[in-house]
Amino acid sequence: MKVAVYAGSFDPITKGHQDVIKRASKLCDKLIVAVLNNKNKKYWFSLEERKELTEKVLEDIPNIEVLDFSGLLVTFMEKHGAELVIRGLRAVSDYEYELALAYGNQEIADGEIETIFIPASKEYLYLSSSVVREVATYDGKLEKFLDEKIISQVRERAKLLNRE
Ligand code: ADP
Repeated sequence: MKVAVYAGSFDPITKGHQDVIKRASKLCDKLIVAVLNNKNKKYWFSLEERKELTEKVLEDIPNIEVLDFSGLLVTFMEKHGAELVIRGLRAVSDYEYELALAYGNQEIADGEIETIFIPASKEYLYLSSSVVREVATYDGKLEKFLDEKIISQVRERAKLLNRE
């Protein structure tokens, strides 16, 4: 069984992430969407909320499992029997960071894992969670960026944070 991992902050999950996940899910038997918990990072949504939003928009894809993750990706992958890392590539600026990450993971895992890069679809080339948070902060339209199932939750959070 081919198990792949797609890791990220998903704060919140965007249509760009969803597009990569949909395409990647066809390349493996199981795709683990690993929601990163970095204690030093400040998120809009807690780990539980980010997992819940992620699960909500992915509920129609059968071979997906949403798990939380911290520490080394390679250790997480060994624990879950995964051998493929999925990464999305947007503009050229993603490339250098992603290449370093891929080489790093391969070194640590002694060549036991492989990274697959999925090019972002044209309409999501410049979409990131930080763009979504910015647009939500100023009450802009989110329909093109986010699944309709989670738009109201993101709007509510923006309102709450604006009040603070
Ligand atoms: P973001 O950069 O949106 O905060 P993450 O840190 O959660 O996203 O990134 C997880 C993975 O998703 C990375 O491989 C990143 O390159 C990819 N990714 C993020 N947004 C897009 C997008 N719009 N299209 C394709 N891949 C994306």
